[in-house]
Amino acid sequence: MIRSNDIIDKVNSYTTISDSEMESIRASYVYSAKVHAGQKRVSGEPYLSHPLEVSAILADMKLDVASVITGLLHDTIEDTLTTKEEIENLFGKEVSFLVDGVTKISRLSFNSEVEEQAESFRKLILATAKDIRVILVKLADRLHNMRTLEHLQADKQQRISKETFDIYAPLAHRLGIYWLRTELEDLSFKYLKSEEYKKIYSLIQKKKKEWDKYIEEVKSLLYTKLEESNIESEISGRMKHAFGIYNKMINQNIEFDKVYDVIAFRIITDSVNKCYEALGLVHSVWKPVPGRFKDFIALPKLNGYQSLHTTVIGPFGEKMEIQIRTKEMHELSEYGISAHWKYKEGNLSKNEFDRVYANLRQLLEWKDIKDPNEFLDAVKGDLIPHMVYVFTPNGDLKEMPSGATPVDFAYSIHTEVGHHCTRAIVNGKIVSLNHILKSGDTVEIITSKDKNPNQDWLKFVVTASAKTKIRSWLRSKEEDQSKVVGKSICERKFKQQGLNFQKELKNEKLSSVLADNKFKNIDELYIAVGFGKISVSEIMKHFIVKEIVEDKDHKKSRIDRIIKKITRDSSDGILVRGYNDILIRISNCCSPLPGEDIIGFITRGRGISIHKSACPQLFEIDPTRKIDVEWDKSYKGLRSARILVKCSDQPGMLSNITKSISSSDINISRAEMSSPDETNAIGTFDINIKDIKQLNKLMSRITKLKGVKSVERIADENFDNKYVNK
Ligand code: MN
Repeated sequence: MIRSNDIIDKVNSYTTISDSEMESIRASYVYSAKVHAGQKRVSGEPYLSHPLEVSAILADMKLDVASVITGLLHDTIEDTLTTKEEIENLFGKEVSFLVDGVTKISRLSFNSEVEEQAESFRKLILATAKDIRVILVKLADRLHNMRTLEHLQADKQQRISKETFDIYAPLAHRLGIYWLRTELEDLSFKYLKSEEYKKIYSLIQKKKKEWDKYIEEVKSLLYTKLEESNIESEISGRMKHAFGIYNKMINQNIEFDKVYDVIAFRIITDSVNKCYEALGLVHSVWKPVPGRFKDFIALPKLNGYQSLHTTVIGPFGEKMEIQIRTKEMHELSEYGISAHWKYKEGNLSKNEFDRVYANLRQLLEWKDIKDPNEFLDAVKGDLIPHMVYVFTPNGDLKEMPSGATPVDFAYSIHTEVGHHCTRAIVNGKIVSLNHILKSGDTVEIITSKDKNPNQDWLKFVVTASAKTKIRSWLRSKEEDQSKVVGKSICERKFKQQGLNFQKELKNEKLSSVLADNKFKNIDELYIAVGFGKISVSEIMKHFIVKEIVEDKDHKKSRIDRIIKKITRDSSDGILVRGYNDILIRISNCCSPLPGEDIIGFITRGRGISIHKSACPQLFEIDPTRKIDVEWDKSYKGLRSARILVKCSDQPGMLSNITKSISSSDINISRAEMSSPDETNAIGTFDINIKDIKQLNKLMSRITKLKGVKSVERIADENFDNKYVNK
């Protein structure tokens, strides 16, 4: 069994550790031994061997001291009575945070058979980890468990191997740790497809001698050539790992013997220039295979990997892959993200630190990044800041944007579950529907037939799909109501005009009404009327125009009246040529009466305003906005007018004037008398009048009354010059 000194030696080989750090490593070893005392692994070994091995793997990966200590303590919270607080008291915040993180990941269980969920689960791990070192410790833990998997029962071997293959090997790949990925792949391959593994393994063994010889020959050839050109280098040759060969056989549907470039050579030089020089040399000696040269130095892979790749026809006529890179690039390709810790120790400048984090984020984001600074801050706190990963009660994993609520979750399951969700249970506890979900939550939705979406839900849902579905539900409900309202409006308005709407609907005019308004069916027409998007008069016109054509002369005046009534009910007894549904307003400035010459003025957005032809305001009006209008002679309505009477202040004056008005068959709507001084009085009368002739007659009658000094017609800005008695 590894001892704590072995671990300290390993760490010492790549970094200078302080006395207190050394003391911490020893103390964590002692602590781990104490709390795991008496526990055994399935193999029968003392449990402590496992954290020791994990810690040694982390030291081999050249990680920082906190990670190495975390390796020793990683199972204490999960498998002993130790608490996070205790770890914090003994080993500080950083270590307790890391151990707690590893524990949280261990508690996540990936038990789904659904292939697509593997990626979500990898993201859940990242979201849970919050620190890249937590994942590295977890990977080391998994590696040691895989190396000792033979001791477990077959079903456990399968489950753990599948999880390793689907989740942890891709994570290692993503982090750019080549050796870890290939070892995890081969170990899970061994258990998941044991027959194929055995076959390939024995084939590799058979060929091994031959290949080793081949490797040595090519290596010495390469050395000679490179030395001749003064390129200092380290050359190595290696076989593809078992799963890599198997994968090639499956993907290209070929036999083992046909898998070429099983052996890859690597040339490590000390500068980028030498890399390109070496490449030129290789190509001058052996013929390159067209299309196989890749320059990952100029264009690094997403996980930061840099190297030159080429395939040539080798000395024995075989295809052979050669990778050429610098020492630094090589370290990164072997140790991936963990190679960055090396730089952390020295005086890492702010820029370099940012670069390390930017790389880190790129590795984790699973997609191309445009602005390298964009997520920098978020990465420090949260590896996947914008998403949460939650489970269904069946263990299916759902990816949701952060801030998602049970309602978002319900809609992601099924539209109907969303529409009828009434309660949510998160990790066994009832929560409100606007509760914010966290990564790792298990969410159960309770539905009820009687529950329906409401406007409030829109205030807290964050997924676009939930929003769309709630809105469309609310809209369809409104439409149902509008349909009923619209239908009854249509029926009522048609009835007022003596028409039976239902009967008229069989009229072929209907299709033109629908087509004109781009309605697909009668329901859409009802909805439009119910929402007020279209007026019934718009529709009615189609049916009435037909009657006009049929029986022009006879029905004209009746039809005119109908049109006037239905078109805003307010043509005010004024005809505007070419328009029959237009807003008309009688201007307050001159208040024209029937019989007076009038002219229309097309206002901006307020219809046509009607003025006396002689109204002084019209002089300022743009002539192109004037329009000819005329009084509708068939119109029998009355209009308001206001007259001002100046007279002497004497008893009976008001009574005489009102008597004179009413004896002319004119109604007074308002009368008012005031006395500005002792001898004079002023009366104002609002009257309802037919036309200018009637008004002139009345005014001359009043003028003749005893004591009356003057009578004039006045307009008032506040005087609502509407017609009355319509
Ligand atoms: Mn463990």
